[in-house]
Amino acid sequence: MTPGAPEATNTSLYQRATGVMPGGVSSPVRAFGAVGGTPYFVVRAEGASVWDVEGRRYLDYVQSYGASILGHAHPRVVEAVRAAAGRGTSYGAPTEGEVLLAEELCRRVEGLEMVRLVSSGTEAAMSAVRLARGATGRTRIVKFAGCYHGHSDALLAAGGSGVADAGLADSAGVTPGAVADTVVARYGQVPEVGDDVAAVLVEPVAANMGLVTPPEGFLAGLRQACDRAGSLLVFDEVITGFRLGPGGASGRFGVRPDLWCFGKVIGGGLPLGAFGGRRDLMAHLAPLGPVYQAGTLSGNPLATAAGLAVLAELDAGAYAMLEGRACELASALAEVIGDAGLAVQVPRAGPLLGLFFSSTPVQDYDEAQVATANGQYRRFFRALLDRGVALAPGPYEAIFPSLAHDRDDLERTADAAAAAAREVATHEGAPG
Ligand SMILES: *Cc1c(COP(=O)(O)O)cnc(C)c1O
Repeated sequence: MTPGAPEATNTSLYQRATGVMPGGVSSPVRAFGAVGGTPYFVVRAEGASVWDVEGRRYLDYVQSYGASILGHAHPRVVEAVRAAAGRGTSYGAPTEGEVLLAEELCRRVEGLEMVRLVSSGTEAAMSAVRLARGATGRTRIVKFAGCYHGHSDALLAAGGSGVADAGLADSAGVTPGAVADTVVARYGQVPEVGDDVAAVLVEPVAANMGLVTPPEGFLAGLRQACDRAGSLLVFDEVITGFRLGPGGASGRFGVRPDLWCFGKVIGGGLPLGAFGGRRDLMAHLAPLGPVYQAGTLSGNPLATAAGLAVLAELDAGAYAMLEGRACELASALAEVIGDAGLAVQVPRAGPLLGLFFSSTPVQDYDEAQVATANGQYRRFFRALLDRGVALAPGPYEAIFPSLAHDRDDLERTADAAAAAAREVATHEGAPG
């Protein structure tokens, strides 16, 4: 069978995939383990929609877990990547695209003076930790339960997202030594920060345990605790960066970290991440300083071209529109799901949404685990997917409306959500 042959179905591809790829996927959450059933295999996407190999269309709120803020296959992004590819896909030499993108990132985020481009959010967070340790000469790092910072050894402890979806607290293969210097604290509470702490890492809006917004004073409290201890505050803005607004979470909440991690939005769907911060801190990085960090494909010309094309579309009007749509979607979901008789929380931070089938707001990872234990997300996800609307296949992921989701799409979503919620509620009421 050749790829894309007419006889290919989701099931047949999944069967072939599981023969040659663990779980049939390149990243665990995609295997549908948390929601059951067979994943759909995407053949193409445009705007708010993706199409699977069987020709079925889904209104897509995954949007590559936030990498695609303009919607899929935005013409300007496609054209930028096409043009860049024609000039060569990677050189192993510096390019103007990197300079332009670095300048653009620093221009938008107040306090961000220098960046190092990498190829993923994982790399950005992992390298930021190394830099923080190298710059402070300290070993410990503090992270928060339910915050996900990619899959590097030291940062997997109590990670959210796919780690949580899979029901794993951590991961096999991570040695006690690798996490010995990682302290896990409760999200929303300012922890003790000792003078052995190199860095406190946080998702300023937690978007990998569902969506959990920071309580009033939390981020400012972390800033103060870090200042007192001489520790570095690292905002992992891989999701929030260039999504909550041009200045991301630091701009929105008015708290400035020492280091930032970026990913997702800035690559426009191509592999690109970045970490950065003040000039004096970034000067510890090789070749200026002793902290080593490198990458064959870092600053890849296709990725920088895509990133620049995306950022060019993200002006104040775009952010206002995106947030307006997210507001509408949040109220519609809360209303129709509530009307069906299900307890629901639809937390929102700017254009980011979450969904918990819970009667009380979710404030940390423990509460997120309690809220997701009833299995309603799984049933709602499936009922919604049957109606052509795709949420992420796990209860710990955020909902990502894009700029391509128009009013009609939101109405379709609300209608489908109403019917899906009624189906779930009927099931809840059924005997057994
Ligand atoms: C997605 C994500 C990462 C990891 O990025 P990858 O590109 O998947 O390696 C890190 N931090 C946060 C907050 C994320 O959401």
